[in-house]
Amino acid sequence: MPRLVMKFGGTSVADLDRIRNAAERVRREVERGYDVAVIVSAMSGKTNELVGWVRDTAVLYDAREYDAVVSSGENVTAGLMALTLQQMGVPARSWQGWQVPLNTNSSHGAARIVSIETDKLVQKFGEGLHAVIAGFQGISPEGRITTLGRGGSDTSAVAFAAALEAERCDIYTDVDGVYTTDPRITRKARKLAKISYEEMLELASLGAKVLQTRSVELAMRYKVPLMVRSSFEDTEGTIVCDEEEIVESRVVSGIAHSRDEAKLTVVDVEDRPGVAAAIFGPLAEAGVNVDMIVQNIGADGLTDMTFSCPVDEVPRALMALEKTREAGAVSYSEVIRDEEVSKVSIVGIGMRSQAGVAHRMFEALAKDGVNIKVITTSEIKVSVLIDRKYLELAVQALHDAFELDKAS
Ligand code: ASP
Ligand code: MG
Repeated sequence: MPRLVMKFGGTSVADLDRIRNAAERVRREVERGYDVAVIVSAMSGKTNELVGWVRDTAVLYDAREYDAVVSSGENVTAGLMALTLQQMGVPARSWQGWQVPLNTNSSHGAARIVSIETDKLVQKFGEGLHAVIAGFQGISPEGRITTLGRGGSDTSAVAFAAALEAERCDIYTDVDGVYTTDPRITRKARKLAKISYEEMLELASLGAKVLQTRSVELAMRYKVPLMVRSSFEDTEGTIVCDEEEIVESRVVSGIAHSRDEAKLTVVDVEDRPGVAAAIFGPLAEAGVNVDMIVQNIGADGLTDMTFSCPVDEVPRALMALEKTREAGAVSYSEVIRDEEVSKVSIVGIGMRSQAGVAHRMFEALAKDGVNIKVITTSEIKVSVLIDRKYLELAVQALHDAFELDKAS
């Protein structure tokens, strides 16, 4: 029988009524003739609570015990979902990650999937038993419970879809699809019928929260057709698929933003080979997620190095820079901070074949008097750093400029 993976996020299983609602959707697919693997998240808020308990118990906690605790939210929903399905007359049983097993490496808290052994699941499918699998968790080579990083049940779902060669992987959530931009910023935001893996990957890593970035990577690698859809409304969702399957032509598909960014400029660093490595090495070690980097034109053997990072990482960045200076690895006169900036990005595979897209973006921003502080580009993305107070204005201006409100 064809197989289907259905993943329900935290808000979709937030209480028993919602679990029943989700189970009803599973029942419908079972009636259509699928062998279903249901992947569940913890009830919404549960994982945060568990993480809080761990942190309140131990500041420097043992990551293996962190995983033992935070993985438990999914165990509860898996059992409850299996029970609910049974109540509806759908034969089902729960599976924790280790029971499948879903094998991971030993990077506790952010483990990577190594393999999924599907034999037992498939055997049970053969006996007519549908699977309810606790997302987010696996087992390490040492036999310890691991978790896949926050939002990791998306990745569990895609991995099971690939391993089970499922026809599709449906991601049920509290939004009804992927939008051209954040609908809270502009009411003109429009739901996309389809989006390519590559564009989704950019949007996810730029902070669109619908899918964990790694789940999109995995879907792209194994060509798993993904559908992001609502648990609460019977609407078509957004299909994430290969770009060849997208016939509509558009230059820009979506606009992403990240509100709380900071821009740091390290002033008067020596303009010599090795300086960038000397600066960004320690920042990486300190766990600072450096994003955009610009080296300004040097004069008199000195130059300025500008980079952006999330605002809450600024103290760590400053400390790492100061330590590096004290150790004599770099010299600089000061670090200028701008903690009131945001990043806005346009994303679209059409950019590859169309010139002048960046120019159109800059023009639209200029028309509204938005000053651009830093620019970076990739093959299918242009990002700019701007004053935070212009964030909404910039997103709206770009949405209009690229006519994203119109179906292409
Ligand atoms: N419950 C986990 C989290 O909140 C995993 C997930 O829901 O995807 O991060
Ligand atoms: Mg999620």
